[in-house]
Amino acid sequence: MKPLQERIAKHVRDIPRSGIRDFFELVVGRDDVISLGVGEPDFSTPWHIREAAIFSLERGQTSYTSNLGLLSLRQEIAAYVEQLFKVSYDPASEILVTVGVSEALDLVFRALLDPGDEVVYHEPCYVSYSPSIVLAHGKAVTVQTRVEDNFVLRAKDVEAALTDRTRVILLNFPTNPTGAVEPVEELEKIAALAVERDLIVVSDEIYCELLYGGPDGMSPGEHTSIASLPGMRGRTVLLHGFSKAFAMTGFRLGYACAPTVLTEAMMKIHQYSMLCASIMSQQAAIEALRNGAPEVERMRRAYAQRRNLMLKRFDEMGLPCFAPGGAFYMFPDVRKYGLTSKEFALRLLEEESVAVVPGSAFGPAGEGCVRACYATAYDKIEIAMDRMAAFVKRLG
Ligand code: PLP
Repeated sequence: MKPLQERIAKHVRDIPRSGIRDFFELVVGRDDVISLGVGEPDFSTPWHIREAAIFSLERGQTSYTSNLGLLSLRQEIAAYVEQLFKVSYDPASEILVTVGVSEALDLVFRALLDPGDEVVYHEPCYVSYSPSIVLAHGKAVTVQTRVEDNFVLRAKDVEAALTDRTRVILLNFPTNPTGAVEPVEELEKIAALAVERDLIVVSDEIYCELLYGGPDGMSPGEHTSIASLPGMRGRTVLLHGFSKAFAMTGFRLGYACAPTVLTEAMMKIHQYSMLCASIMSQQAAIEALRNGAPEVERMRRAYAQRRNLMLKRFDEMGLPCFAPGGAFYMFPDVRKYGLTSKEFALRLLEEESVAVVPGSAFGPAGEGCVRACYATAYDKIEIAMDRMAAFVKRLG
């Protein structure tokens, strides 16, 4: 019999396992470890949102929904998106409710790419971008962003990466793993490039509510979506979801907003692969959009305080780190210790029981940094910072 390994499709065989997963297998079962690793809110979903899911079950709402998602949810999404992004979408046909932004990413590339088509995106980046593109038989083309430049994506670097096979530019601001927020002037140049070269932009804005504005990082900043820039609405697929700002990772709910032709193509794949997102999650999401804003702001302020704590402590221990404008990640630069990011993270785990993710898990451009997530309780972060300070002092 042919070995089972050889029965796996070649493009699947070639996809590496997630570096985050590999790393976190080392942490399993170790109660002494403070994890700054997983990119997930430590808050439970606000109670009124959980209650909406419970009521949905109590009322016996246990059916499939429309493939696009409940119309009432799409109407709420349209209103929310219009207020947040200043772009309007028709809930009847321009919004597709998905199983997390994860599914939306999978759908968009499968809908848009023919084999060999190229997607240009910035690195370091979220771990699923390259696999999602490769699984859709596309080619992932990365543009490096640099710690020296606060991880700003430069339009000139994007332009240099374009070829006649480029179909899509993929953006993620605020960025996982760096927390970077793109300056509007640069976003405008990227938009102009997309128009000039007739490209689709896929914009993953899952962290857009989590911004830290003002001199002390405590005020809600201003988010600009590329979809709102001139000429962009008709060529952008805007991805957003409930996992981060509403602390709803386990509900598995996201959405894509785009012109009908694009949502229709994504919907064709979604209806055969997923059919629809869970109705209980969709009912909860309606409540989140209607009444969730105060809780989102409460969590954002808590993240802002933790961010400020980490920034201060990194500064005191001499660990260079730029002040991220959004998400819930810090990406300090550890190069001066002469260790790779993986060696730094492994030794920190072994010697001080603090888990951070090696920057190399987010692509070669992440090497030299580590990701520390501050979606962890304030007092735990304080202890983790004491331990890190002792560690870097020993490293010298
Ligand atoms: N996009 C980015 C940038 C993320 O960081 C994540 C999760 O960490 C996702 C998408 C996936 O989110 P979801 O839970 O909506 O599938």
